[in-house]
Amino acid sequence: MKRSHLLLSIVAIAALLLFPVGITNAYYIHLLETIMIYAILLFGLDIVVGYTGQVSLGHAGLFGVGAYTAGVLVTKLGAPLLVALIASIGVTAVFGAILALPALRVTGPYLAMVTLAFGTIVQILINEMTFLTGGPMGITLSKPPLFGHKLDEREFYWVVAVMLVLSLIVVHRILRSHLGRAFEALRGSPVASDCMGVSVYRYKVYAFVISAGFAGLAGSLYAYSEQYISPNSYNFELTVLFLLAVIMGGRKSRIGSMLGAAIIVLLPKLLDDVEMFRYVSVGLAVLVAVVAVIGIQRGRLTAKQMAIPVVGSIALAALSFWLKTMTDWRLSIFGVIMLFVVYYLQDGIVGFVRNALNIKRQKPDAQAANAPLVGGDAVSNAARTDTGGEILTAKGVLMQFGGLKALNNVDLSIKRGTIHGLIGPNGSGKSTMMNVLTGIYVPTAGAISFAGNSVVGRTSSDIALSGIARTFQNVQLFGEMTALQNVQVGLHHTFDSNLLDVAVHTPRYLRESKAATDRAMGLLQFVGLADLAFEEARNLPYGKQRLLEIARALALDPQLLLLDEPAAGLTAPDIKELISFIRKIRDHGITVILIEHHMDVVMSMCDTVSVLDFGQKIAEGNAAQVQADEKVIEAYLGGTAA
Ligand code: ADP
Ligand code: MG
Repeated sequence: MKRSHLLLSIVAIAALLLFPVGITNAYYIHLLETIMIYAILLFGLDIVVGYTGQVSLGHAGLFGVGAYTAGVLVTKLGAPLLVALIASIGVTAVFGAILALPALRVTGPYLAMVTLAFGTIVQILINEMTFLTGGPMGITLSKPPLFGHKLDEREFYWVVAVMLVLSLIVVHRILRSHLGRAFEALRGSPVASDCMGVSVYRYKVYAFVISAGFAGLAGSLYAYSEQYISPNSYNFELTVLFLLAVIMGGRKSRIGSMLGAAIIVLLPKLLDDVEMFRYVSVGLAVLVAVVAVIGIQRGRLTAKQMAIPVVGSIALAALSFWLKTMTDWRLSIFGVIMLFVVYYLQDGIVGFVRNALNIKRQKPDAQAANAPLVGGDAVSNAARTDTGGEILTAKGVLMQFGGLKALNNVDLSIKRGTIHGLIGPNGSGKSTMMNVLTGIYVPTAGAISFAGNSVVGRTSSDIALSGIARTFQNVQLFGEMTALQNVQVGLHHTFDSNLLDVAVHTPRYLRESKAATDRAMGLLQFVGLADLAFEEARNLPYGKQRLLEIARALALDPQLLLLDEPAAGLTAPDIKELISFIRKIRDHGITVILIEHHMDVVMSMCDTVSVLDFGQKIAEGNAAQVQADEKVIEAYLGGTAA
């Protein structure tokens, strides 16, 4: 951590802890306590929403599960505080898994509906299971004792504050680890995640379970904080509010979560009376105007972009002075502000301020900058295997899409240690072949064996881990992640650390993390991208993106590397460089299948070339043989004559 950050954190934590010393009004202490509790939940929700990009409308339900676990344990069994907190985390995580395992088979609106149904079911169960939950009557409990001393309102505030700081540290560590990278990667490109050995389904569920754990912790703290829980608290409105808080505050940001929590707790209170509303709306208008002026000055925003937000917030301020009472307007204004923020600040408040003031995200891994640069050795850790023999054989592969046979009875046999070209006119089935080999499609018929094992029917991540890496014809990088992080996702398989290792930074985790960072830097250096390690992948020039994809694929330590048109869109000097990379990769003992349109590239490098046309293999041989083949000439002339 940078010294300025450390100092800022210490000041913030001190302010948080000293708050109830300076301000003794129990109302304000309780208000801040509620914000902190919501923030803990939102840290977790942000993992699901911000990082993995899934929707959850089930988090109020999970919050309720946490609250009731604590409530029941305390009232029925007299469980002490720490037991109740840990049990709530555990029980809610289990509920999270129960929700996630079936729900995450679907996405988008379906996922929203399933999670919503879950929330409703939880509420009904709490209502009906009177023997356990007290039904609609709810559960009343008091502030817990800790180490034999009964906590008062202020002391419990400190418990919550400590939990907030602990949650912050743990979430932060998770998100910076290989786990966090997996979550972020599956949002960036699910297909590439799977092909890097990071199972999308498994990590979505994992994210949900971790997220549920935080919801459980928040729920149990809430039960103690309110001293009364009832089924009605965990309703649809709350779940939507949570989601809005993450989006408004700014996804992928802990500050955003805290800000979001503050907004959903404070805004309704601030709209309680018209006096307060005037302060808020004028404050807001000034803030928006200041950000707009600075942003426009720095060239980060245009006047046109900012016109509506500025006019809108001024109009809101004007409205506040026109109104005499709030009673009839409260809900509508709350709704309008929410809509406004969600519509205009799609990256949330934090994202907007960051963009307007041109603040870069923190570097993902500060140690990486000092990592020693490993040279060409970074390319492969896999032991060099003997050349000769077949690494991959495909027999009679048929891939049918409706009536179209994208691959029709194709045989392929790839010799170990060679560069095998796969060519053919557009639409001849080359990319489909790669998708079949990497488990993205299951072939309609046929057999494929890689290094002696069948590939058909296995998942992409499983196949990737067994040693097949690939790049994509239309580049599939994890756009919001840096170049370094992209390669680190490829190194996911080098980690054995679990959640606990990550949370407490065990020596094992630190060792694995350092090794992965060093190796990733080495790979970036190999493809000439070391200088751009901390640049977001989506900001790299197209040619560099293609090289980054190759570096990421190499991180898997593959025996077989599939390159789908790696030279497409590259300039002539870049292509030359690419050829030398591919040769080096082969020299490291990695077998390469190369799909390419640039005939000179194919002809100068490939040991064997197979030619596809309309899904069928029409020729095979060395470069000269294939080039002279009449069927090949005809396919190309026929296919491109127009
Ligand atoms: P190439 O990479 O050789 O240009 P492709 O393998 O991408 O060709 O495509 C081969 C044929 O299969 C094309 O006609 C394409 O439209 C079709 N195809 C590929 N993927 C699908 C799919 N998922 N659904 C339907 N048709 C597909
Ligand atoms: Mg293609």
